[in-house]
Amino acid sequence: MSTRLEDLPIRDDLRGQVPYGAPQVPLPVALNVNENTHPVPEDVADDILDQVARALRDINRYPDREFTELREAFAGYLGEGLTREQIWAANGSNEVLQHILMAFAGPGRTAMGFTPTYSMYPLLTGATGASWIAGRRDAGYTLTPESAADQIAAADPDVVFLCAPNNPTGTPLPLAVVEAAYEAARGIVIVDEAYFEFAPREAPSALTLLPGRERLVVSRTMSKAFAFAGARVGYLAADPAVVDALRLVRLPYHLSALTQAAALAALRHAPTMLGMVDEIVAQRDRISATLEALGYVAHDSWTNFVLFGGVDDPAATWRALYDRGVLIRDVGIPHHLRVTAGTEAETTAFLEALASIDSGA
Ligand code: PMP
Repeated sequence: MSTRLEDLPIRDDLRGQVPYGAPQVPLPVALNVNENTHPVPEDVADDILDQVARALRDINRYPDREFTELREAFAGYLGEGLTREQIWAANGSNEVLQHILMAFAGPGRTAMGFTPTYSMYPLLTGATGASWIAGRRDAGYTLTPESAADQIAAADPDVVFLCAPNNPTGTPLPLAVVEAAYEAARGIVIVDEAYFEFAPREAPSALTLLPGRERLVVSRTMSKAFAFAGARVGYLAADPAVVDALRLVRLPYHLSALTQAAALAALRHAPTMLGMVDEIVAQRDRISATLEALGYVAHDSWTNFVLFGGVDDPAATWRALYDRGVLIRDVGIPHHLRVTAGTEAETTAFLEALASIDSGA
């Protein structure tokens, strides 16, 4: 008989837990994990390859532990007068968030978010030994400054997650909520801007709130708008003291020389890398409009995905789409499903498959 988890001397608080597990199945149309569905343009890929090849020549040495050049490049990309002392990076923003929790939460402490929100927050919180506090959202998955402040004041968490815009709902988060949450909180406030580049151009970033707020952290990722999910690069901007705290918990040399080289090369081509954002936003809006026409409720989205309600039996619809070669996400919200905006062809395949289910075909 094979060994089960319960047979191992595993941490008590990990017993009975399930790992993060969006299915990875090779279906023709994969719209389930909010990836950028457009590949990196050929000429940029060639340049990245050159830089990675160069880094490979020194691969016998440990990488720059401080990834100084990369932090400089992120500061330049973000603007807002940021300097490299305010930047941190890791293998995906998941690891960035893990570093924050390791430094500012951990055993005996708490982290809070407003559900439904990104499903990794409670998992990262638990894995670092802290307890998760589930706050609530208002109607339409929005969050008002008053509601956020009241809930934070009542729970007094060590870390607050504000997902802006929110996954899995797509909901924008006004900066007034960030300001109110920060005032109400004693601990670190993380604004997770993983999908920021898909928001309207004029929408301000929480980066503009950083001056004078030493407990505020704004995290970003190259996984979405930069079409770089496979490279695993996330980053944040915060007070230099916060960055110093993260140095206490990271593994030495956590960002490989290959990752640093690839990310640096990609950042040099930021406008090209981000070139597909407008096209993705157009597909997202097309999805919302068509879903509404099909009789579903498409929630407002400032991201590269759409959460839609009015689904009688989400598991059955998910399966029917699967059988038609289209993979989307059942995020566990009753009568809802979530779909990532694809290329024009992928989006068409999804909408046609859904319409065919709708008509009972
Ligand atoms: N934050 C949010 C809100 C996300 O949706 C995701 C990925 N789905 C992440 C962070 C993590 O992304 P990554 O680790 O690829 O940077």
